[in-house]
Amino acid sequence: MENLMISTMPIKPYNKINPGLMIAPVICDVIGDILKCKKVLALNLLHSYDDKSVDLDKYLSKIVEFDINYNELIKDINYTDIYLSKIEQLIYMGFIEIKKGIVLRCDCGKVEIEKKSVINNKNGNLYHWENNKMICSCCNRECKEYEQTNLYMKIDSNFVNDISISPLFLKKELCNLLNRFSEREILISKNRQKDYFININNQRFNIDIDMLWMMFNQVEESKNQILIASNHQLYQIFISNYINNIFGEKSIHYIATPYLTNGEHLDLIKKIYSKHSCLYKKLVVLYSLKWKYKTLNWNNGIIELLNKLDDESLGVLYNHLLNINFDEQNSIQNIVNKIFSEINLNNNIKVLKRNK
Ligand SMILES: [Zn+2]
Repeated sequence: MENLMISTMPIKPYNKINPGLMIAPVICDVIGDILKCKKVLALNLLHSYDDKSVDLDKYLSKIVEFDINYNELIKDINYTDIYLSKIEQLIYMGFIEIKKGIVLRCDCGKVEIEKKSVINNKNGNLYHWENNKMICSCCNRECKEYEQTNLYMKIDSNFVNDISISPLFLKKELCNLLNRFSEREILISKNRQKDYFININNQRFNIDIDMLWMMFNQVEESKNQILIASNHQLYQIFISNYINNIFGEKSIHYIATPYLTNGEHLDLIKKIYSKHSCLYKKLVVLYSLKWKYKTLNWNNGIIELLNKLDDESLGVLYNHLLNINFDEQNSIQNIVNKIFSEINLNNNIKVLKRNK
């Protein structure tokens, strides 16, 4: 496949590394090897007010521990010029407008949202309601109304339709997002996030960091891209795809990985971080994912099965995966779905036995 690359959507390094943070890099490595394309590990360092260097080093050492290979490491913070110039282009094209509106925000600045998008008494991720007052869940202070001029991105339904995603069943949820946001406007400038800004008619607009994150597909030049995020980020995928459709230069397929829970319960971190080869760790992550679910538990059965295999058998298993056949004439969506359907420990172990 020409000019194809696979990349994680930029991952934020955390101090505590949950094995779930390894899902996207493992998928990137394995699918990239099967498709024989460029592999990119992208990291989100845009939130520069936290010093991320310690967390970054820790995260990268985990990447080594899992033997995750990539051709290029992208730190999104190095591409803010591209992001901001694309925002200016969107203004010029009429997709982003300067408008007056009412915004609700708190003193700490974590909450800053358009009043129109808030439903009274419905709690959000960052706020909750007390006595009909909206309270920031970080600083516990009331979010007050301000009338101010901001940048708003219009969701034009002509540019939202086509989305290529694995697993397929998520299309329904994306359709719901489409119905919810179609023809609406999204606040994309924030008073309190001062790191990245543009000036228009002598007025400064600070751009929402999440908005910049969603424009990651504009950083890499490859015409065909596979981008990996978690299925908790469907809204971000929806906007990312919208922006790409507007520019119309690239063909993008998204992979929204299942969310794995219950790791603490299994003492999983100890189990998969303490012993065994890199390959074992990679295979635990890979085989624990069941692509017809949105959320599932880490699977103890799979871990026990893999525990029984020696390093040589793990190697045979992994090689078998890297040689999954696919029809190059098919769409990326079909190819990726076929590959996922063939990653099945019970079936793959039968091949192992046959080869003995
Ligand atoms: Zn606050």
